[in-house]
Amino acid sequence: MDEGSPAPGTKCVFCDIVARRAPAWIVYEDSTTVAFLDIFPFTRGHLLVIPKRHGARLTDIPFEDQMALVRTLDEVCRRAERLAPDYNVALNAGAWAGQIVFHVHFHVIPRYGESNPFRAGHRPPLSEPEARAVVAELANP
Ligand code: AMP
Ligand code: ZN
Repeated sequence: MDEGSPAPGTKCVFCDIVARRAPAWIVYEDSTTVAFLDIFPFTRGHLLVIPKRHGARLTDIPFEDQMALVRTLDEVCRRAERLAPDYNVALNAGAWAGQIVFHVHFHVIPRYGESNPFRAGHRPPLSEPEARAVVAELANP
């Protein structure tokens, strides 16, 4: 197996986003990382931060990619603070931890004083007008 690629015959939607084979509302991109809107946001402005190199978990990618990921996480958190000063950062590693997409990612989830947004079954899909509005607020440095 190629290091940094999904297993042969395995589709990875986040690799597809990196390669522009799948659409995404991208708010940040550099040579090693991308950040985009979650399509089933827990709250307004829910973001995902990923390395371009495929790896299921943080511990599957090289140290340099981990560092680049955290640098982008910092940038994305600063931008998320435009929406709300408070937010959650989460990383689910493994199915029992709730991981659904097996390409490592941090969630950045702005919090607006709602009680518990982390309820399964309470995740309306991101609408295009909402996505456009959030990208307009976050895509600029
Ligand atoms: P996790 O449970 O940590 O693996 O979370 C994966 C996240 O990816 C979920 O919050 C999904 O809503 C989100 N997601 C899945 N497919 C896409 C996609 N094509 N574009 C944006 N977000 C996605
Ligand atoms: Zn991938």
